Amino acid sequence: MDPVHANYPFLESAREAVREADLGLADIIRAGETGGTRHPAVERGVQRVERALLDGTVDVPEGQRHPGVQAELLSYPVARVLVSLLDMPGVVEKYATAEAQTAFERFTADFEALDDDARAPENGKVPLRYVLHEFDLSGKVDTAGWGDTAGRGDTAGRGETAGPDDRDEGFAMEVTAYLRLASGFDGERWRLVRRELAEGKVALSADELNELLREAVRQRVETGLPTTVPDEIADGLTDEVAELEDTFSEVDVTRDIDVLAPEQFPPCASALVERAQAGESLSPHAEFALVSFLASANADEEELLALCGVDGETEARALRYRAERVADESGAQYAPPSCATMEAYGECPVADEESEVEDPRCDTISHPLAYYEEALADAD
Ligand code: SF4
Repeated sequence: MDPVHANYPFLESAREAVREADLGLADIIRAGETGGTRHPAVERGVQRVERALLDGTVDVPEGQRHPGVQAELLSYPVARVLVSLLDMPGVVEKYATAEAQTAFERFTADFEALDDDARAPENGKVPLRYVLHEFDLSGKVDTAGWGDTAGRGDTAGRGETAGPDDRDEGFAMEVTAYLRLASGFDGERWRLVRRELAEGKVALSADELNELLREAVRQRVETGLPTTVPDEIADGLTDEVAELEDTFSEVDVTRDIDVLAPEQFPPCASALVERAQAGESLSPHAEFALVSFLASANADEEELLALCGVDGETEARALRYRAERVADESGAQYAPPSCATMEAYGECPVADEESEVEDPRCDTISHPLAYYEEALADAD
């Protein structure tokens, strides 16, 4: 198995690798039943779903050992089965979004690291051309801005040719492919009437192309979910499903908070706001905690950007995506992490022995939103 399959388990070649490994899901699950401990792929599959729904990512947590290429790859079909067995609103959408966001973070770094002309994966990394081919976009996207302008001409209709240093220029996607990927996006800038069009193609920046590729991943992950799970497999995963349901019931916060009052934020949220505004690059779980808390606390887009200390357009776009995706279509939001999860991540200043922060209200609640709700009530 290739590390690229572990990093991008939704690829066709990853699916093929699973088939070639000839390891059926039922065998993997049964291995845990007979051996007393779960197969690493099942363990990681549970974590994958938990991380997706709590933190908006499926990455292995920082500081934790990678389970190995095979277990990581097999954890993906396990996670898909678990998602199908969970009876919770919005679970498929949130899971697919988290898989897509994780892939997005990986492939944007890979595109920067690999040679612009690369076509095949290297050391677990994927080049742009490979990803375009994977999603049947090779012939539908002109990559004039990515170092191969020779012979392509002004494909983006900009009257210029761009070199490798102009990665923000020169991409163009066929309208039909663009509509397939962008039609569900919020925001005026994605509407076709607002786009620059030339010869049936929509001009795109590199960032925009990456956002559309993230959507291609999301659509692929979502396709086929929830899947029908044979009884043999469902029965073998009863404990895992119960464990996940327990975890999520703990954070089932359905409060309706309609006031944004940063002075009433709990210490954890205040600390994250302070760090973000000081320009610190927050870890994915810290950023997720902050964005989901602010969305739950009724911050609008302008307030969100200000509280997160974001002013650049690229960062603002990434943050808007995060914010849009912490709420599903029914309006149900990802709850921010509970106090226990914040403490486990080292993001609770009250629990941090090296911090001098104390707050008596924190002794009475188990969730940052409960703190905020009480603080708002006390402040009338
Ligand atoms: S106890 Fe909870 S609300 Fe208080 S700072 Fe820690 S995580 Fe935040």
